[in-house]
Amino acid sequence: MSVRVRFAPSPTGNVHIGNIRAAIFNWLFARHEGGKFLLRIEDTDRERSTDEAINTLLDCMEWLGLDYDEEPIYQSRLTERHLAVAEELLAKGAAYHDNKGGDKPCVVFRMPTEGRVEYHDLVKGKMGKKAEDTTDFVIVRSDGTPVFHLANVVDDIDMGITHIIRGDDHVENTFRHIELFKALGATPPQYAHLPMIVNNQGKPYSKRDGAAFVGEFKEQGFLAQALFNYLTLLGWAPGDDREVMSRDEMVAVFTLDRCKSSAARFDMKKLTWMNGEYIRNTPRDEYAAIFSERLREAGLLSDDFPQQTLEGIIDQMQVRTRLYNEIPGNCSYFFTDNYQFDEKAVNKRLRGEGVAELLLEIAKRFEALPVFDLESTNATLVELGERRGTGLGAMVHPVRVAVSGMAEGPGLFELLVLLGRETVCRRLTRVAGEIGAI
Ligand code: GLU
Repeated sequence: MSVRVRFAPSPTGNVHIGNIRAAIFNWLFARHEGGKFLLRIEDTDRERSTDEAINTLLDCMEWLGLDYDEEPIYQSRLTERHLAVAEELLAKGAAYHDNKGGDKPCVVFRMPTEGRVEYHDLVKGKMGKKAEDTTDFVIVRSDGTPVFHLANVVDDIDMGITHIIRGDDHVENTFRHIELFKALGATPPQYAHLPMIVNNQGKPYSKRDGAAFVGEFKEQGFLAQALFNYLTLLGWAPGDDREVMSRDEMVAVFTLDRCKSSAARFDMKKLTWMNGEYIRNTPRDEYAAIFSERLREAGLLSDDFPQQTLEGIIDQMQVRTRLYNEIPGNCSYFFTDNYQFDEKAVNKRLRGEGVAELLLEIAKRFEALPVFDLESTNATLVELGERRGTGLGAMVHPVRVAVSGMAEGPGLFELLVLLGRETVCRRLTRVAGEIGAI
């Protein structure tokens, strides 16, 4: 039996990471099994499922490289078929009319009244509930429109779906759906319900916790590959300690038995770290082009900026960039004297007793060096630290904050050489004079 799975989103204009994670798992499973990954757009809510909402969805899938097989199915075009199936169920006695007090009846599906409704979940294991704890449910509303349960199951049958991989908010629906499959003479597919994505408090991850929609991650500068990789690890693990994995590696080892049933905590820090790993592994030329583009956009990089220095800055920054959007903010000091001072760093490193005098002394020594390079700048600070009995640390931090405004960045001596003696001394002198005013 060849695997056929589907992603069946209801377009709303935004694509939540929980939904796209389900898409990713379906895609990985299909590609691992050599099966088909189908797209079914559950657009029966015509108010929300606008063309724009559908395009947003398709854009997100394309951005993440979730290519689908066959033509997409639009559920709203299949209403006649859904209603015909409801008639079939009525004829069989598996469903009945109920007029619920209104003038037009709805169609209700009959759930069993004895025994248990059971299925084996590929993630959660054995699932079941007593028939008496289930209730009959509407499949066609009194206005004649089919309900989600009916449309979803009929389409899954018609599309020959073998496995349903979706969020575990659908577990309750599944008890109903398997009875619908059976009533229609179909074997229910296999189910894999993915654990919920939760925030730090263990509550469902939502907009309130930060970026929750694919489009927001894209806007914030996350790479599609990094987001894809990170979401794959929310509820699944490769069985070894690998985290950063190529798409091919993930496809090669993706099996449903490695899906976890416990809630998956969304960790923005980890995603950001992972994004940095992807940036670090980006071909240098590609990084260089993006880097220059971002700085030009920010008005920081002019055409006459020395190329060799720029190359050196790029080498330093590629391994330190976690998000492309952070580039201008993280290295503006290479391009302008008008850089921002981080308040915490200033308070910690520049406000102390004697710092102004120290910076002036360092500037004087730097000016006197025959050559201004990694070794000579390093030796200057080592020697001064020894002479003052304060050690190198007491030199390094104030100098860094003075010349860059920040507590972190490239190695200090690389930084100094890239800035050049003139700039370094100008800034040290200026900051020494302004410490009280920064
Ligand atoms: N449209 C439903 C959803 O987005 C489909 C669920 C499913 O069967 O995969 O939640």
